[in-house]
Amino acid sequence: MITSFTDRLVSCDCCPRQCKVNRLAGEISFCRTGAKALVAHAGLHYGEEPPISGTAGSGTIFFAGCNLRCIFCQNWQISQRFDKSSVREMSPEDITDEMLRLQDSGAHNINLVSPSHIIWQIADAILLARDKGLSIPIIYNSGGYDSVEALKAIEGLIDIYMPDIKYMDNTLAKKLSGASNYADIIPGVLKEMFRQTGPLDTDLKGIATRGMLIRHLILPGHQENSRRCLEVIANLSPDIPVSLMSQYTPQFKAATCQEINRRLKSEEYYNLMDYAFSLGLNNLFTQDITSQDHYLPDFEKKNPFEN
Ligand code: SF4
Repeated sequence: MITSFTDRLVSCDCCPRQCKVNRLAGEISFCRTGAKALVAHAGLHYGEEPPISGTAGSGTIFFAGCNLRCIFCQNWQISQRFDKSSVREMSPEDITDEMLRLQDSGAHNINLVSPSHIIWQIADAILLARDKGLSIPIIYNSGGYDSVEALKAIEGLIDIYMPDIKYMDNTLAKKLSGASNYADIIPGVLKEMFRQTGPLDTDLKGIATRGMLIRHLILPGHQENSRRCLEVIANLSPDIPVSLMSQYTPQFKAATCQEINRRLKSEEYYNLMDYAFSLGLNNLFTQDITSQDHYLPDFEKKNPFEN
């Protein structure tokens, strides 16, 4: 008998990989995560988009492991190369306690970073946290490689969806992230998220309360992929705010792929900004292309974002 969301890990269908392994019995598959979530860092984060970080900070919980294998991942220390000594195993009850601690420290929201492979555990944690008095918005901050069925199952638990759209080119998605069906899946994922929450709402201080914000990291040399990603968003709704990210720097294994082993050029960024505006995407969050290093975390530090 299924008594909690977490019980569904008996045959894992959290994400599009549909591994069907029994994570409750200790089986581990692509995402390298078993029954308990692995938390690499939790704390107030001031580097998100202004409606998310506000002035008091976003209460981020960074989960280790991932259902993607991006060779350029800037969080590779926790997504791909982590060991047990660098992460904390957490039950849904432990995650609830962490959420309440972040609320008590003044966070505007709870920002769940890389939640796709632990969607059932966080669903149980949110239910418990709401019972215990959590009142700030919950943000689902994913790489976009999510299961539409799982998202439907947790409808009502997430206040703000903040997914990436990384690719609209399956060949590129396979080569750079090991996800050969990413482009088939992402339009449906965004549609379901938007159906649940609509575009972004903010309070009188400009802090996000509900809705959706989509991020796109521009990869060097792949303008056509980026244009197609922006078209998907515009077709869904030009009212959706888009965070157009210029912060790419070659990280992790990016040096193994000549075409992305460099930083973004200014013209690549500004051309796509113009293209977004031409599609009616006027609600853009942009980045200073000269400050790419500013965004790089180091998860070996107590505060990974202290730079
Ligand atoms: S969450 Fe992990 S085990 Fe489950 S389907 Fe996805 S990759 Fe496989």
